[in-house]
Amino acid sequence: MAQYAFRYAKAGLKSRLLTHEPLFLTVFVTARCGLNCGHCFYREELLNGNVKDEMTLAEYDTFTSKCPPFPKLIITGGEPFLRADLPEIAILFYENASKARQITIPTAGTHTDRIVGLVEKVLLPRKDLILEIQLSIDGVGADHDAVRGKGQFDRLLRTYEALKPIQDVNEGLRIRFNYTFSRRTQDWFEKTHDFVTRELGNPHFDMVLVRRTTVDDEYWGQVDIAKYRKATELLQAAELKKAGDSTFRQLLAQRVQVEREIIAEHHQGNPVMTGCQAGTLTAIVSETGSVRPCEVLDTTFGNLRDNDYDFMKLWENGLADAHRKFVKDTGCFCTFETCVRTTMSFQPKWYGKMAATYARQRLGR
Ligand code: SF4
Ligand code: SF4
Repeated sequence: MAQYAFRYAKAGLKSRLLTHEPLFLTVFVTARCGLNCGHCFYREELLNGNVKDEMTLAEYDTFTSKCPPFPKLIITGGEPFLRADLPEIAILFYENASKARQITIPTAGTHTDRIVGLVEKVLLPRKDLILEIQLSIDGVGADHDAVRGKGQFDRLLRTYEALKPIQDVNEGLRIRFNYTFSRRTQDWFEKTHDFVTRELGNPHFDMVLVRRTTVDDEYWGQVDIAKYRKATELLQAAELKKAGDSTFRQLLAQRVQVEREIIAEHHQGNPVMTGCQAGTLTAIVSETGSVRPCEVLDTTFGNLRDNDYDFMKLWENGLADAHRKFVKDTGCFCTFETCVRTTMSFQPKWYGKMAATYARQRLGR
């Protein structure tokens, strides 16, 4: 892991000082999904998604051959496993100029055979690849099904049980459960965390805060922030436990607390972090080839299809510059975890906060 952190830091420095290439790409490969979760921020795209508009494998080949290296990559949707060619897309991102070595794929976990098939085809032959399969979980049993649909919890568990033996013998695979913390699910966090970490014995558990762009914001979006903070404490306690006696790892584990506190403040409308790196260090490519700074704004820098699949041509154009100016001028802020995390990594003051949190813990305050 240390070598990947080092590679990421080195690429970050190079990007800031020389190349201005992003480090972190989220690529949406489909806007199709068989489910209909109330907290889904991609609802509009799901309603309008058409398989015929999706980038083809040949288009991904051209794009990934011309783009800069992306040390971190998320391949998402919709439900990414609805694409039968998902393993081939992932392999292109690994083999071509994009050189992805840390790939995360979030999924509702419905398509067990396809998920296991991808792990076998993509991960097992590539010893320097880290692949994270992120299984969405919203509760235990009927609670999960109340959000995702009848039978979904059993399907999710079936997928986990099929992946677990591979994770047990392969350091490159990480199965992470990911909880969407919403008004609907805020009372189920502890039970779900307990189920995953104790009953299933899987230590990798994370949460995202619901985006305030759901269809019924009052029902899903208005969370009790005290409950979110309590959930954060549980997550951090788990991270500290994993860190063991290592002071360095204990310090790094404070990231959870500091990052979630930023998100809690932003959720309440208090901008404690500005200088967002979306559109500078993080990028989005939609399933139709639109290059965007983040998942929250509708801003686009243009479409790969109209620009010879040349990512950097779009990344350095006037629209991209205008977005960066907008972020600077307005102090744009939100709760989008990927961007909060990336921005935090490159602002020294947050390391000071982590050190202070660590010191307080050591002193028992
Ligand atoms: S599974 Fe994901 S993409 Fe599909 S509706 Fe639910 S949140 Fe949206
Ligand atoms: S603060 Fe949020 S909305 Fe603004 S650019 Fe960053 S990720 Fe996008």
